[in-house]
Amino acid sequence: MKIIIAKPPIWDEANKLFRLKELGLGVIFTYGDTIYNPFNIPVTRDLVAHEEKHAEQQQHDETCAGLWWKRYVEDPAFRIEQEAQAYRAQFKCICKTVKDRNNRARNLHMLASQLSGPIYGNSVTHTAALQMIGSGVTLEPDQARKEVPNALQ
Ligand SMILES: [Zn+2]
Repeated sequence: MKIIIAKPPIWDEANKLFRLKELGLGVIFTYGDTIYNPFNIPVTRDLVAHEEKHAEQQQHDETCAGLWWKRYVEDPAFRIEQEAQAYRAQFKCICKTVKDRNNRARNLHMLASQLSGPIYGNSVTHTAALQMIGSGVTLEPDQARKEVPNALQ
């Protein structure tokens, strides 16, 4: 995906939906296969994983992106479902580098606070958000290393 410092094509709608001015938030937007970063915030690896999921949902295509954004703005249930997938991808990305159980749990709680927070209209509880993002994603360090045969260690 390419990242550009510019407002996305759906800036006006998104601005209204997310109440960006009121909440004073710096956010990024995916449209097609491009990440728009109008506030020039640091785009971390896990944020890219989040936005890559949105690109996939939009089939990496600008026409699909237009339709996706229209539904995203109009349909709160669709919005939360799509975001839950994106936050889940983000959390999985975090777990690739964060192996400490408590640190993973902290990250999961932080992501759940975002998904259940004002930017998405406080439309799910924190507990529900935790489940949507974290269920099935283990908080234990991954077992990959243990599966390597002894001879290779
Ligand atoms: Zn998102």
